[in-house]
Amino acid sequence: MQKMNKPVTLGVDLGGTKVNVALVDRSGRVLFAHKSLIHASKEPERVIADIQTAIDICHSKTGKEAEALGFGVAAQVNRKGVVCGSQNLGWRNVPLKKKLEKELGLPVAVTNDVNAATWGEWRFGAGRGVNDLAVLFVGTGVGGGIITGGKLLSGCSNSGGELGHITIVYDGRKCHCPNRGCWEAYVGGWAIAERAQEAVRTAPEEGQRLVSLAGSVEKVTAATVSRAYREDSLLARRLVEETGRYLAAGVVSIVNVFNPCVLVLGGGVIEGIPELIQIVKDIVPTMALEASVEELEIVKASLGADAGVIGAAALAQDLVE
Ligand SMILES: [Zn+2]
Repeated sequence: MQKMNKPVTLGVDLGGTKVNVALVDRSGRVLFAHKSLIHASKEPERVIADIQTAIDICHSKTGKEAEALGFGVAAQVNRKGVVCGSQNLGWRNVPLKKKLEKELGLPVAVTNDVNAATWGEWRFGAGRGVNDLAVLFVGTGVGGGIITGGKLLSGCSNSGGELGHITIVYDGRKCHCPNRGCWEAYVGGWAIAERAQEAVRTAPEEGQRLVSLAGSVEKVTAATVSRAYREDSLLARRLVEETGRYLAAGVVSIVNVFNPCVLVLGGGVIEGIPELIQIVKDIVPTMALEASVEELEIVKASLGADAGVIGAAALAQDLVE
């Protein structure tokens, strides 16, 4: 296969069950993407074989060959590209970078999926051109990244920027981590579902619409809240307003600490209830330090579900520059 003049790179976004592999050009444009389920065993060798197949498809469909590969994985990754642990994949101490470089014969960068998506929004999305940036993804869980002085904050053991686990309520709701009162335990999709189910149990009459949309109390999810909100359910409205206040509480801490120029909000919960952005925009200037919000812009993420592959491919670009 002929190498083209304009180099392209591959981005991989690996979650607990799915993988998205894309060939991306220098301007962050996805030339071709291949999404698939990973092998049910989730064994690293099998998953790498699935990815190899997807890469071959990307190459043959575009007639272009990548010069490097960037990999975002739902896991804790150290600086050497070793997956230290992943609950979603059941991996421990997998030297992913080394394995991939050997298999593919390409330079490889490995990071966690949220860092990759943050990188994507920074390089090619809503945070483009800014040196001080906070990116927050509110999905089932809450993750994000901080870019400060033009560098992605990584911390001592490469686990910095775990924004979802800042404490916003002392001794508050139990989180999935060892702590209580984490931000994620209020605004993450799973937490919105829990809060909604509790609200329905406390006020069954008010909650009727949510239950009929979901089928039963146990099936009420954040998506149910979003649908009921569109139908003007009072309970859903209250839940959304409360969620907005919790969201704003965490954003206030982030802007006070990091003083970003731009704060990007994305993820499934924000996509489902974009009105949350306005609630945050209304509250934050009234609660944050004046100097912290002087030049702050709060914007919606712009790359959607492709942020991960675009960011991973952008990381790979830096390997061949
Ligand atoms: Zn937590």
